[in-house]
Amino acid sequence: MTEQSSLPETETTFDSLNLADPVTKALGTLGYETPSPIQARTIPLLLEGRDVVGLAQTGTGKTAAFALPVLSKLAEADQTYKSPQVLVLAPTRELALQVAEAFSSYAEHVPSASVVPVYGGSSYGPQLAGLRRGAAIVVGTPGRVIDHLEKGSLDLSDLKYLVLDEADEMLRMGFAEDVDRILSSAPEDKQTALFSATMPKAIQRITGDYLKDPVQVHVDGQSKPAQNIRQRYLQVTQPWKLEAMTRLLETENTDGIIAFVRTRNMTEELTSKLVARGFTAAAISGDIPQNIREKTVEDLRKGRIDILVATDVAARGLDVERISHVVNYDIPHDTSSYVHRIGRTGRAGRQGDAILLMTPRERYLLRSIEKATKQSVEEMQLPTLDEVNASRRAAFSEDITKTIAAHAEDEELSVYRDLVSNYIEQHDIAAVDIAAALALMAQGGRPLEADEPDLPPLNLRGRRKEQQGAERGSRPKRATKEGHATYWIAVGHKDRVGPGNIVGAIANEGNLDISDIGDITIRPTFSLVELPENLSHKQENALKNATVAGRKLNLRLDRGAPSGGFSPRGSQGGGSDSSRGQKKKQRWSKAKKRQEQNY
Ligand code: AMP
Repeated sequence: MTEQSSLPETETTFDSLNLADPVTKALGTLGYETPSPIQARTIPLLLEGRDVVGLAQTGTGKTAAFALPVLSKLAEADQTYKSPQVLVLAPTRELALQVAEAFSSYAEHVPSASVVPVYGGSSYGPQLAGLRRGAAIVVGTPGRVIDHLEKGSLDLSDLKYLVLDEADEMLRMGFAEDVDRILSSAPEDKQTALFSATMPKAIQRITGDYLKDPVQVHVDGQSKPAQNIRQRYLQVTQPWKLEAMTRLLETENTDGIIAFVRTRNMTEELTSKLVARGFTAAAISGDIPQNIREKTVEDLRKGRIDILVATDVAARGLDVERISHVVNYDIPHDTSSYVHRIGRTGRAGRQGDAILLMTPRERYLLRSIEKATKQSVEEMQLPTLDEVNASRRAAFSEDITKTIAAHAEDEELSVYRDLVSNYIEQHDIAAVDIAAALALMAQGGRPLEADEPDLPPLNLRGRRKEQQGAERGSRPKRATKEGHATYWIAVGHKDRVGPGNIVGAIANEGNLDISDIGDITIRPTFSLVELPENLSHKQENALKNATVAGRKLNLRLDRGAPSGGFSPRGSQGGGSDSSRGQKKKQRWSKAKKRQEQNY
């Protein structure tokens, strides 16, 4: 097997990869700016027609590494397909669905590339219908793929590309025999890519038996962060990242900050949310012209802004001494990009702080960063509202001290000094009362302290509280994509469901395409799913009765939160709730609203 070096490929761009235009267009919509290292190495090889063994885990961008070249070839062939051209094998139903979803989003402008997921534990009907319609891409778990082969519903005779995703996991789960059977029933002249986090003997055997002169691609940066950077991580669930970021910004002793995100779109989104919360932030991404980027960096250097929200590309080589903190708002795809990102702080021999916001599913990426850098990243806890308030009080005092120091000698302060002494003489009021009134005026109606009960805990320390909070709190009606509406379903975290389970059931039972299913928000006892607004009666009924994790979905249109509180189960919440509970609900929601407006 040929081996490729593991040096990071920093200069590759999507344009230089020669992907078909419809595929590049989809990447533009998704806001992907540069290929991740596994993509930069794998895409050219797959486009060249080589077999590839990729040593990579989820989170490194490996799905796009195989999906983009394959879709590119389908786009260029520009045909309609009666039988599958691409088969992706994945170890679990969740991964199969995730890969199918990713394929669909990358295939937005490749009409011939229809995707059907097939996996065990759910009825055959919709899968059969999907296959019969002529899916070009099938993503499935090995057992169910074998079932379909045996039934004659899956025809591999025309297969051009076969991908084994998380191959080591597939073997660990006992699929070795199935994988062998599938590989040997696929045509000889297909192209094969195998992805695996590890290379045990069994994988080497499969590689030797079924892949043709494969190139092994291995990406994991060997570099190390500097010792003067303190590395911490905060575990937080996706919906609470912004709140976590805000609290960090209020409680950490920061100067300049870079917040790293994955996509161009996200630089804009996070910047506007931070600005709305009163921070001075600006976005830089590869899209922004060089002169404007330089001006923005200069603004950070001079302290005209405090936060730069950036993608990897835009922040390459950036050297600004006052950057005290790097926040990895989105975890990077690989170790070398982590090391590069956090190296933006701790410049000129100063101390630096790197904080990583990590969702529970991304823990293994942190582990691989720790392993590659041979350094451990310290866990930190989410600052409480008490801590936020203490910081606000301290900042308030500091502002007074600074203002007095800065204007001790000049006229400006003495004008006000005279005004205040005159006021004291005329009104016989203590200086402290006047100062308090002025402080209130200076606050411009914003409360200095957050006096609401704490928001639901944002990390996993207190899931129960999160559950209570989310169920009590007001919930704004969500903005949905055109032609879509938000539907409520009766399963949530407590049923241990993930987006994969929900997508699978809805796609199958509602006879919907995966691309019809929009955002999914999983709450403790229920979830919200964006689906086409014009579901037929038949589809609605099927989805009402469909089950996930043994629970009926009871799908219905979501009407957002009723004012004054939200009861996830219609009227059920009202009766048993005491009026104290009701008041608390209102206080919580009012406080939250205030906090959102005034932060
Ligand atoms: P994967 O390892 O394929 O599961 O991808 C992990 C995450 O990274 C997914 O959310 C992808 O949408 C995202 N992603 C993959 N490639 C890129 C890229 N080149 N730029 C930005 N995000 C990406």
